Amino acid sequence: MEFTSRRLFLRALPAISAGVRCLPSHAEDETDNFPFPIDGGIWDLHAHLAGMDGATPQDRMRRILNFADRMGVERLCVYMGMSFSYNPTPSELRKQNDEVLQAIGVAQGRALGFVYLNPMYPRESLDELERCVADGPMVGVKLWVSALANDAKLDAILHRAAELNAVVFQHTWIKTTGNLPHESTPMDLALLAQRHPQAKMICGHAGGNWELGIRAIRSQKHVLVELGGGDPTSGFTEMALRELGAERVVFGSDVPGRSFASQLAKVAGASIPPSAKSLILAGNLKKLLRPILQQKGLPV
Ligand SMILES: [Zn+2]
Repeated sequence: MEFTSRRLFLRALPAISAGVRCLPSHAEDETDNFPFPIDGGIWDLHAHLAGMDGATPQDRMRRILNFADRMGVERLCVYMGMSFSYNPTPSELRKQNDEVLQAIGVAQGRALGFVYLNPMYPRESLDELERCVADGPMVGVKLWVSALANDAKLDAILHRAAELNAVVFQHTWIKTTGNLPHESTPMDLALLAQRHPQAKMICGHAGGNWELGIRAIRSQKHVLVELGGGDPTSGFTEMALRELGAERVVFGSDVPGRSFASQLAKVAGASIPPSAKSLILAGNLKKLLRPILQQKGLPV
């Protein structure tokens, strides 16, 4: 069935993710062939503390989890600190990562940290990778807009991340109005991916302009696209599936800059099989993270 209103869609989500096949009676006649997956839950690859209300990282984490509960999101990957910084100094990086460590510390295992690195400071970034991932609880790397993804400065980071089984999330966008000076496109990421076939890499936002972004990374089989950020657009998830296969597409929300509801709609409302929705909403991310979670003795 198609959802007839945003209200119906929102009302249905928590029950569905909790494994309830039939919704409460007020919506019963609307639930035949409900398209949302019931098995596997929802894991979100992409959440931030910046932009959320709250005086401390812990306060913000609790608020995010409160919203996540409403939407049936079980686990979230969290990266970057209380404010956004395009080109953080080494001390800013440490502060941002400390804030994530504080946040995930109150999440009772539901939040997974990704260490924010700045390739313009290669040695200090490697130190942060050791501190937060090799010796700490984090499970991935976040790269944003401080250096182009194809820059050779990323190589040592990618190499070490692969050794650690850490997932590398690279923001990408193809902006109609022009990118920031060092903001990567999926084409930049594809060049980096060619040099690092062992790395677990994510093309963040599918490049924003997803019709171009999906195709740009298609030949790099170890790169997955993330659906987060941007408006839910008809055909986006369907094209990702068609071009890459269900196992290379991952749900992320980019909360709080975007809502869980608008981003989940990209998967819930897509004309794709329920089995593909399960992979996109949790299965693929679990598979990517399973080795590093097991190394750290964390549940999958
Ligand atoms: Zn983001």
